Amino acid sequence: MKVLVLGAGVVGTAAAYYLNRAGHEVSVVERQSAAGRETSFANGGHVSAFSARPWASPTVPRMLVQYFGREDAPYLVRLRPELRQWLWGVRFLRNCTNARHAETARHMVRLSMYSHDALTDVREVEQLDYDQAAKGVLHLYRTQKSLDDAARTELQTEDPRGRPEIVDTARAVSLEPALDQSRHFYQGALYFRHDETGDAHKFSMALATAAAKRGVDFRYGTTVRALLREGDRVVAVETDKGRLDADAVVVSLGAEGALHLRRVGVEVPIYPVKGYSVTLPTDGYNGTPTMGIHDEEVRVVTSTYKGRLRAAGTAELVGYDRTITQSRVDTVLAAVMQVFPNGGDASRVERWTGLRPMTPDCAPLIGPTRLKNLYLDTGHGSLGWTLACGSGRAIADIVSGRKPEIELTGFEVDRF
Ligand SMILES: Cc1cc2nc3c(=O)[nH]c(=O)nc-3n(C[C@H](O)[C@H](O)[C@H](O)COP(=O)(O)OP(=O)(O)OC[C@H]3O[C@@H](n4cnc5c(N)ncnc54)[C@H](O)[C@@H]3O)c2cc1C
Repeated sequence: MKVLVLGAGVVGTAAAYYLNRAGHEVSVVERQSAAGRETSFANGGHVSAFSARPWASPTVPRMLVQYFGREDAPYLVRLRPELRQWLWGVRFLRNCTNARHAETARHMVRLSMYSHDALTDVREVEQLDYDQAAKGVLHLYRTQKSLDDAARTELQTEDPRGRPEIVDTARAVSLEPALDQSRHFYQGALYFRHDETGDAHKFSMALATAAAKRGVDFRYGTTVRALLREGDRVVAVETDKGRLDADAVVVSLGAEGALHLRRVGVEVPIYPVKGYSVTLPTDGYNGTPTMGIHDEEVRVVTSTYKGRLRAAGTAELVGYDRTITQSRVDTVLAAVMQVFPNGGDASRVERWTGLRPMTPDCAPLIGPTRLKNLYLDTGHGSLGWTLACGSGRAIADIVSGRKPEIELTGFEVDRF
């Protein structure tokens, strides 16, 4: 079958790879000059294989109140005269109950573990190098109460691999000696030993190269203008370089996908949730962490790649505005400098922003739509790097008419 994948972020690239392996003739349409150059470019780098959780949780409304009006808030809403933003916000808040959080988390972990296996497999088969580190991730807590609350929830995880080790500060420092600089901030940590880190952009490019060698046709520098619908099918995609026909179309257009889908009558509640990252050179610095760190208080994560320290975080509801707001990105820089003052060179920092394609329950949309040959693999929000390979494998099965190896309850396209 001739399959068009729209978007070569980490999600679309993985989908294209698995569709090719399933025997299809695959083309990818991407407006950038290479894979992984938008939201997949400089994210936090955590492959949260066993700690994937939806952001929608009872702590979020509390944090919105606690930080109301502050520019350094982990979650910041800039209200706009835009119905989509308000509706999305209300739906998101409805998912912030304990029950909804627990249910979505169960689905997410099922997919993240599947995705971790897929990532491990593709890494070996294709010999991919993306500055990966499989040393686990420490989730750090600044109060005993927040540590106890998190531990109580996390220890209920069904799969033992998903249950973290509760560690005191001394053990956290023995696992990650760079934390000695800031041990006084923390009461303890949850250690997810099977989680990993890696550069999602490097991965996307390496996987795209592997896919291209296998025959996937990447059409870079090509912008999707519209999906062309006839009856209950999408017959072609109109681009700035002409019309492309296809038997099936998979949409992985990130935060903007919803705008194209709406025009062919497929409504999906994906809204952009803006985040920031900073990347610091580490040559000559001796306080750089080597494993993944997640500071649960300020909601900032760090990953270390060859010669670089990346820190990422914050969530801002501000529409499709991609400008870098100095005060917001500096919050992330201040957070990493507070924890790792000797971790990298802040005077040579690279600042970045990206729009997370987020659904109100924070779980992706994977599967068929009401149009017969139109499929979605999108809406991965804060976990697209973690979930890309598993989602790609699942959508390739669905497009091929096979039952996916993983149960996809909780990711249905029409669940909202
Ligand atoms: C600050 C930050 C930190 C994060 N940290 C993590 C983390 O630690 N772990 C994790 O798992 N996830 C993380 N994420 C989330 C993750 O980065 C995203 O979920 C993921 O990148 C989404 O991938 P995607 O392929 O769906 O979207 P994108 O990477 O945005 O890809 C969509 C592609 O579609 C293309 N496109 C869009 N419109 C058109 C058009 N009209 N024509 C042609 N091409 C088009 C774009 O150019 C783009 O390449 C983070 C995100 C942010 C912002």
